[in-house]
Amino acid sequence: MSLDRRHFLAGAAGASASLLAGCAAPASTLLPPLVGMPTQTLLPKGASPRIVVVGGGWGGLTVAKQLRLLAPQAEVVMLERNPVFFSCPLSNKWLIDVVDTSFLTHDYLRVSERHGYRFVQCEVLEVDRATRRVVTTQGQLDYDYLVIAAGIRYNYEAWFGNDRRAADATKARFPAAYVPNAEHFALKRALHDFKGGDWVMNLPPPPQRCPPSPYERACLVAWHFKTNKIKGRVTILDHKPRIAPIGVGFKAAFEELYKDYITYVPNAQVQEVDPFNKRIKTSAGDMRFDHAVLMAPHQAADIAWKAGTVGTGADGKPSGWADVEPRRLHLRNDDRVYVIGDAVGAVSPTFRFYPKSGHVANSHGHIVAGYIAQRLAGKEPELKLPDNLCYMLVNGSPREAISVQFDYTVNAQGVIEQQQIDDNDRRAELVSENFRWAGLKFEDMLA
Ligand SMILES: Cc1cc2nc3c(=O)[nH]c(=O)nc-3n(C[C@H](O)[C@H](O)[C@H](O)COP(=O)(O)OP(=O)(O)OC[C@H]3O[C@@H](n4cnc5c(N)ncnc54)[C@H](O)[C@@H]3O)c2cc1C
Repeated sequence: MSLDRRHFLAGAAGASASLLAGCAAPASTLLPPLVGMPTQTLLPKGASPRIVVVGGGWGGLTVAKQLRLLAPQAEVVMLERNPVFFSCPLSNKWLIDVVDTSFLTHDYLRVSERHGYRFVQCEVLEVDRATRRVVTTQGQLDYDYLVIAAGIRYNYEAWFGNDRRAADATKARFPAAYVPNAEHFALKRALHDFKGGDWVMNLPPPPQRCPPSPYERACLVAWHFKTNKIKGRVTILDHKPRIAPIGVGFKAAFEELYKDYITYVPNAQVQEVDPFNKRIKTSAGDMRFDHAVLMAPHQAADIAWKAGTVGTGADGKPSGWADVEPRRLHLRNDDRVYVIGDAVGAVSPTFRFYPKSGHVANSHGHIVAGYIAQRLAGKEPELKLPDNLCYMLVNGSPREAISVQFDYTVNAQGVIEQQQIDDNDRRAELVSENFRWAGLKFEDMLA
């Protein structure tokens, strides 16, 4: 390997600086240069505008790619803690091997290189909005625009206060598998090791990530029991008074396909959870379980809180979700910070929250990339609304699905309105549509 003169001089300058500093050099200067520290600069800021994207899920992947297409003059940096992308959409189907792991997991580095944005695997620790600086485990970087696409956290505090031991035990033993990480693998293992007995699933209060997906999961767990002749019963403890959305379709599946395998309990608000003795107490009664999918209430991800994006509700308490301007999707008090996907707070007095879905996060990614590109070009953004479409597999053989679609319009008062269309008629055609949908979305985010 040969060194050119510029590299040689840079190396020599570094070496003499170290010699001058002598033995008193701080520990960080002894580190190899690519081992970052939160106190160091991660990427020096150049002359071009920089957009930092926090989170590489459905929203983050979309906005990063679209920004490169729509604002090629900008530098785009995506910060994500996980080494690979794992899709929560279709992960219920993966639990019963309808798709394999390679269908859901994708390489961040290859995608980011293809589209010319930078991917840095790190944990985002803090956001200083006053100085427009993000602090990560690998170093700090400044932004012109920030897009927070960090998804959700589990509000275990609602169940356990500050008892971290109970929260950790719940997560480890009875994972909800609602955020993209190792919990999904633990759930799949638990399902395939289950020998029989009571399998409990609780549904948190709205708003929650992907409202129909716990019912889909219940159907597929029940299908697995039925197909493999496991003497198990799934009890769904629903916080809500009824199944929603696609209530008619799910109810028909529970009664017609899984009468001996699913018990649906409405108005079951969780009062106590004991992960050590496998007990759950709800307003509809108490249960002991052999295994459970325990889902604490959902909120915007930790970093949305740390960045000061979470608003207050009518009761003066934190709303749990980012306080965005409903149509522009930037924070009400900071137009340099956009929030997209599941972390977004209420956008309408009528339906309140957009469905917390990958489809909406992807749609938000397109919309916000367009807004930032237009602002960088000195234009007033042309306002747009997302849409939503979700397919839910309710039968493993024959494969049959139901679906729900949401459309949005703005009324004369400037309020966003929602139209919901449930397709309750389970059929094979919707399974094909689901895979077509997934193919298009993966291509849009990753190809
Ligand atoms: C079982 C299940 C089934 C689903 N099915 C569907 C479906 O069929 N259709 C559909 O449209 N939606 C579905 N969803 C919902 C969908 O997964 C979410 O709505 C979507 O992922 C939201 O996108 P997001 O970008 O907001 O968050 P995410 O996709 O969760 O991405 C957030 C990313 O931010 C990263 N992150 C968070 N904090 C930090 C930090 N401090 N530092 C670094 N990185 C950070 C996380 O690691 C994560 O990768 C389903 C969800 C589940 C759980």
